[in-house]
Amino acid sequence: MARYRGPVCRLCRREGMKLFLKGERCYKEKCAIERRNQPPGQHGGARRRKPRAYGIQLREKQKLRRVYGMLEGQFRRTFDEANRRKGVTGENLLQLLELRLDNVVFSLGFATSRTQARQLLRHGHVLVDGRRVNIPSFRVKPGMEVSLREKSRKLAQIEEAVDFAQGRGIPAWLELDAANLTGKVVEAPSREDIRFPIQEQLIVELYSR
Ligand code: SF4
Repeated sequence: MARYRGPVCRLCRREGMKLFLKGERCYKEKCAIERRNQPPGQHGGARRRKPRAYGIQLREKQKLRRVYGMLEGQFRRTFDEANRRKGVTGENLLQLLELRLDNVVFSLGFATSRTQARQLLRHGHVLVDGRRVNIPSFRVKPGMEVSLREKSRKLAQIEEAVDFAQGRGIPAWLELDAANLTGKVVEAPSREDIRFPIQEQLIVELYSR
């Protein structure tokens, strides 16, 4: 699947906030936002104009899309599905994004970033209910069990990620058996479970234009 291959810190600088796209580096002083929080480009800081409503809505959508590492088409299809579902569209959208398997692997602490989680999935290290699944967008459901292949558990990359994740905490809608590197989806995430600062209503307004 096509994906963004450019410098990822540039995306954070464009949004003016940490999107946590690079794993451990994001929590250190080396983070580009910590060092120089200004838009990318030679005159990035100088060409700021007061954003209009459309610009604000667009930035909010780009922010969320980049956090989950999705291209526009895939993001739009997820939005359309959220819109077709009962309930509040913005909250449905956040829930569908959180339930992606790559996000669950990251949230359980098996990877330091969603990008690394996608790589683990692509390389066949992840099991869902005991079966290998290599599709990052696979949607998990409450009751499903997400684990790592026996052989993969000893990989240095995974051991480091698990150690690192201890300080990050696990969302309340997931349960982790750290000794066996197995996680369970207890329930679908609610709006309160999503800690990332996002105004999803602006995205709904953008796509409703
Ligand atoms: Fe964003 Fe992480 Fe780069 Fe910081 S280190 S700018 S949070 S991707």
